[in-house]
Amino acid sequence: MPYSYEAPVSQTLFDRASLVTPGGVNSPVRAFRAVGGTPRFMVSGTGPYLTDADGREYVDLVCSWGPMILGHSRPEVIAAVQEAVARGTSFGTPGEGEVALAEEIVARIEPVEQVRLVSSGTEATMSAIRLARGFTGRAKVVKFAGCYHGHVDALLAAAGSGVATFGLPDTPGVTGAQAGDTIVLPYNDLEAVRAAFAAHPGEIACVITEASPGNMGVVPPLDGFNAGLKELCAEGGALYISDEVMTGFRTSRAGWFGIDGVRPDLMTFGKVMGGGFPAAAFGGRADVMAHLAPVGPVYQAGTLSGNPIATAAGLAQLRLLDDAAYARVDAVSAEIRSLVSEAFTKEGVAHTVSAASNMFSVFFTDQPVRNYEDAKKQEAFRFTAFFHSMLSQGVYLPPSAFESWFVSTAHDTQAVERIAAALPAAARAASEATA
Ligand SMILES: *Cc1c(COP(=O)(O)O)cnc(C)c1O
Repeated sequence: MPYSYEAPVSQTLFDRASLVTPGGVNSPVRAFRAVGGTPRFMVSGTGPYLTDADGREYVDLVCSWGPMILGHSRPEVIAAVQEAVARGTSFGTPGEGEVALAEEIVARIEPVEQVRLVSSGTEATMSAIRLARGFTGRAKVVKFAGCYHGHVDALLAAAGSGVATFGLPDTPGVTGAQAGDTIVLPYNDLEAVRAAFAAHPGEIACVITEASPGNMGVVPPLDGFNAGLKELCAEGGALYISDEVMTGFRTSRAGWFGIDGVRPDLMTFGKVMGGGFPAAAFGGRADVMAHLAPVGPVYQAGTLSGNPIATAAGLAQLRLLDDAAYARVDAVSAEIRSLVSEAFTKEGVAHTVSAASNMFSVFFTDQPVRNYEDAKKQEAFRFTAFFHSMLSQGVYLPPSAFESWFVSTAHDTQAVERIAAALPAAARAASEATA
């Protein structure tokens, strides 16, 4: 291992974990497989910082893969959770907290007339696809290469996130029957979508897309792409599903919809809306949502859906996310992006800092990245060297060149200075790296 700096307690925990859990992790992106080395076991988080089991502190640029937009242990969120816990943890009945969270979502996101709460983004996209199929009576689903919609069987074809990180072609366990109705197209290519509708008239139930993809690195939609999808769906009698699990309540008050204003038929949410707890949702047109049980025939359910602790955390977080909070996250993101770019430029490292609102990632190429094929052409080996240098200097990045970086309102001047101090050596390590 070229990166042998010590993390003895994490190493011991990882050895224990690896005996009882495949790969020692409960979600593949947490492993350091793409970059090598020992995953850090975190024990606590405060504001922009995480502390690992060896007592080392890191500036956190992962933010739990997006949810922690107010930083860790924000007192108001913790207080809301403590208050909810004291009343009991799950009732299996309706409760006011889930009504209030649904009202907050409907109030923020205009195309969402009705919403159903679930526990993970995967459940949200799975349910939205089922609903689209039930509503249209059609089978086929269009998705884009490099977009990740959770580990839904039908959506794992050419997926982003861990599937991209590990270069997995297709996932064993997903049968031909489950994936056979999935049409995978290159991202940002409206002609390909038009051709798919022409080739399968009356068969496409929905087009699902990340509102602005962040699971192949950050690759925003080209001008007019989402609007074009919406139009082609309307012409073809299909539903347009915008997956805002990552962008929702992060890229603006109303997520990516708040930025491009393209009105989806259905939307999915997760990450930020749970305030660090398992809470997610899908929603949209009331006439479509009316097809869901118990009103309609499309079945969908969940023992812990709308859990009172999760909804209390999510609601407390959303209520703190006002215009000033988004302005703060956007500003700190811009500041870090320019520091990163400056450091690479100084070392002559070809790079593109790709941003969508406050989400961003670095591609080690100076060519434009418009889809997954472009993203894969980057010199990802430079990321490995960069990642470990940053880690050894106390900056925690996503352990993959194909994931978005996330910041929070808690990333203050001191945290940004720590990042700035680590960048020169890390950029040098990237420049000296060899494939
Ligand atoms: C994270 C993510 C999901 C899956 O959410 P989970 O809660 O991990 O199941 C789905 N879609 C997008 C765009 C995501 O970023």
